[in-house]
Amino acid sequence: KVSIQNVSKSFGSTPVLQDVSLDIEHGELVVLVGPSGCGKSTLLRVLCGLEEIDSGTLRIGDDIVNGKPPAERGIAMVFQSYALYPHMTVYRNMAFGLKIHGADKAEIERRVHDAAKVLHIDHLLERLPRELSGGQRQRVAIGRAIVREPRLFLFDEPLSNLDAALRAKTRIELARLHRDLAATMVYVTHDQIEAMTLGDKIVVLHEGRVQQAGTPLTLYQQPANRFVATFIGSPT
Ligand code: ATP
Ligand code: MG
Repeated sequence: KVSIQNVSKSFGSTPVLQDVSLDIEHGELVVLVGPSGCGKSTLLRVLCGLEEIDSGTLRIGDDIVNGKPPAERGIAMVFQSYALYPHMTVYRNMAFGLKIHGADKAEIERRVHDAAKVLHIDHLLERLPRELSGGQRQRVAIGRAIVREPRLFLFDEPLSNLDAALRAKTRIELARLHRDLAATMVYVTHDQIEAMTLGDKIVVLHEGRVQQAGTPLTLYQQPANRFVATFIGSPT
């Protein structure tokens, strides 16, 4: 289980996360929603260690991870921009993170091929990112996270660059992946349908504070306040 306890973070004098507490159960897919600038990406970035928190505790199981370097947290993040290395093949993009962690060659090969098969990109391993479609690049970015076998996956609007049809298709595949890998995931999206269909739990963030966390049905039927009701689109 992942525990975010009383986490606060400011940039200069601007508070961006204010006393955020949240539990993520093992194997749960938590969707994080909220208006632009409310702190969603910042919350993911402090989880994986790209930013340090000012106060609070980040726990994975019994392991307190705040203060640890990103590589030691066992967390993999998939960005909206994919952030692939343009000069490396798909295979090398996926293997890169493992190589620098010193995994042996046979193990790297096994993990890359397993992930590529799951994502249906096994025929693309020798291509360069620029020779791929947007949807294929997006899978490589997810593949790069999977090969690391992280304890926690973070997705920051991973589908927002895809057209509506491909987004719907990839959403279904992500749900399948989540099930097959029994993976614990936090998923940021602006898309209401994505949130309602993917989330075991939805967390609504507003001005750096958690407004409500619960199942899609709970948020829809029993919004904690007017902001949640409006944001989720509950009947009022
Ligand atoms: P969006 O939906 O637009 O991606 P978000 O919820 O992900 O928004 P964040 O990127 O977490 O929002 O930003 C939250 C606030 O923190 C914003 O006001 C932003 O300007 C500010 N912010 C984020 N990163 C930094 C930084 N490195 N330095 C200063 N301010 C920052
Ligand atoms: Mg963001």
